[in-house]
Amino acid sequence: MQDARRFAELGVATVRDLLGHYPHQDRYRDAGAVVDAADAPRSEPVTIVGHITAWRVDRPPRRRGMTIARATLLDRGGAAVEVPFFNQPWRPKQTPKGSFVAVSGTLETFRRQLQVKNASLTRIEGEEHLAALERGRVTPTYPAVDGLPSHRIAAAVGAALEGLGPLREYLPEALRRHRGLCGLDEAVRTLHAPGALGELPAARERLVYDELLCLQLGLQQRRHRLEADVVGLVQPPRDDGLAAALLERLPFTPTAAQRRATGELAADLGRATPMHRLLQGDVGSGKTVVAAWAMLTALDHGRQAVVMAPTEVLAEQHLRTFTDLLAPLGVNVLDGPRIALLTGSLPAAQRRRVLAELAVGDLDLVIGTHALLEERVDFADLGVIVVDEQHRFGVEHRTRLRDKRGDGHAPDVLVMTATPIPRSLALTFYGDLDVTVLDELPPGREPVTTRVIERDSSRRARLYRFITERVAAGERAYVVCPLIEDSTSLEGVASAVSTHRRLAEEVFPDLHVGLVHGRLSSEDKDEVMEAFRRGDVDVLVATTVIEVGVDVPEATVMIVEDADRFGISQLHQLRGRVGRGGGRSYCVLFSANPEESPRLEAVASTADGFRLAEIDLELRGEGSLFDTRQSGLPDLRLARLARDTALVGASRDDARALVEADPDLHAYPALAEEVAWRYGEERLAALDSG
Ligand code: ADP
Ligand code: MG
Repeated sequence: MQDARRFAELGVATVRDLLGHYPHQDRYRDAGAVVDAADAPRSEPVTIVGHITAWRVDRPPRRRGMTIARATLLDRGGAAVEVPFFNQPWRPKQTPKGSFVAVSGTLETFRRQLQVKNASLTRIEGEEHLAALERGRVTPTYPAVDGLPSHRIAAAVGAALEGLGPLREYLPEALRRHRGLCGLDEAVRTLHAPGALGELPAARERLVYDELLCLQLGLQQRRHRLEADVVGLVQPPRDDGLAAALLERLPFTPTAAQRRATGELAADLGRATPMHRLLQGDVGSGKTVVAAWAMLTALDHGRQAVVMAPTEVLAEQHLRTFTDLLAPLGVNVLDGPRIALLTGSLPAAQRRRVLAELAVGDLDLVIGTHALLEERVDFADLGVIVVDEQHRFGVEHRTRLRDKRGDGHAPDVLVMTATPIPRSLALTFYGDLDVTVLDELPPGREPVTTRVIERDSSRRARLYRFITERVAAGERAYVVCPLIEDSTSLEGVASAVSTHRRLAEEVFPDLHVGLVHGRLSSEDKDEVMEAFRRGDVDVLVATTVIEVGVDVPEATVMIVEDADRFGISQLHQLRGRVGRGGGRSYCVLFSANPEESPRLEAVASTADGFRLAEIDLELRGEGSLFDTRQSGLPDLRLARLARDTALVGASRDDARALVEADPDLHAYPALAEEVAWRYGEERLAALDSG
């Protein structure tokens, strides 16, 4: 009963849960066989079992502070073995004289005395435990809780596996062979009780593949269920329309990545299946042109297009960018395409006019916020939707926008994000979206010169002088702080409020120093940002609220205080705020410990957002990139996306092929059951509403 409660703490309620409670991946211990010390091999891992007959604790006078605790063990064959522990004076208390223990390590003869070097010592908790030790050389370590130690979990797993008989295989045989994977029964038994460490990788590979395949199957099936009977719009690009004219009249040549992207979009737009594509690209990679091209393609079919932005300020910025980009097409003049803004704060009369024009088709392009989703917003004939956001666009939003057409046809949807996500992660978490990556910056961009500097360095004063010079030359600077206000629990960490005070009063008394952070109202925030954009503020002290923000081409210097407090992707995102004007720009990362900051080093070493995202994934794991939606994270127990990239790709390909041929997996009922069990509708819905 007690045990059941403790197992419940570990999330284990059924035998199935128990078999899915995997050992820590890198904490298997090759303890060696249980042997009698007298005739055991030397210098290889062994385990000796016996009673402790004595403890002696020495403090060698010549080595101050050092203690050596020596246990004498009488093993079952009657040999006396000495087991030294350095600087662990608590040892005798933990396993006192008389304890029955197992000691693992390498056996040596030292001055004719048997000794176990680098020993690990465990008290033997009973017959079961001893039997387990004798059974397996390689011992797994399970995630455990108080009162339910790892070896008891191992015993429970062992008993379950013994009682169960062979586990039923659910992977289609052909697929298993094609991918060269071992069987399920073998994989599960090996992972819990490997005969040797060398058997683990194959077992792991099979089970990682299963996790990823089931997730992909769940996502693909869901996509199929929601969209099987939805008909999209057929709107292939035309070579005599606005979209073609846009590309012809660009003041620059599209990059190869942009051309590839429009090619992929062209195929989507021309197909009756609705487009759901994610366009990923670092800041400045030129996503706007690609999006505008898709939108104009809808116009070429007599339809409308919309851009949905996360905030009003960003919607206004998009309006400016799109209007500039479309200027050569005569936007908003004479018979050129018509574009307008729709946000919650539009004056009532203007808003009524926009709504009326949208409904009858007098407006071709509209840029707005989530206000666009409101019921009274009606379109005459909506063809393309562009969603610009850092977070995921849920199926629920899609349904609401689809309903905007009233005729059951779904518009084509393009989601843009400037947060680079490693491909393996994008394919896993956006399994129901197609992914296009702009992995190339337009030529001639100078990367932001980035340096890591010790926070108390004398170079700080020189940097401040440099900022004064840049401001005199018409440029601007950001100073980013981890905290809004000083905090007693994070003493010494820079806050925006006190940094602002210090800079305004002591460092830059002759400059305009502004302050923006998340505790300001959104009107106040917008006002400060706008003043910075206009140049009424020279130096802007900020928290990460500026991470996704307004483009200020004149901003050329960024200081990040206590940069160690930010993640790699976040620093990269912040740095994207400078250098948008084309000239030289600088980013200084202040750190208390510049020597021990691999993350800061990484940010300083490359401007490639995808590379940085991969490093981030390697250093911190998948949670870091999705910390806003922890709750919806699928349960990947064994898969590590930074490492298992090949399996991610393979499982996605396999899942797509399976669902395309047989959406309900009728031919493979066991697999269908497994998918439903792991990724039922409810869990997948939680995943995409973030
Ligand atoms: P993103 O939205 O991906 O951050 P933008 O679309 O805003 O990037 O483009 C950034 C800047 O680069 C804009 O000024 C844009 O006009 C310019 N640009 C886009 N594509 C190219 C290109 N192929 N060559 C040169 N400049 C480009
Ligand atoms: Mg942009």
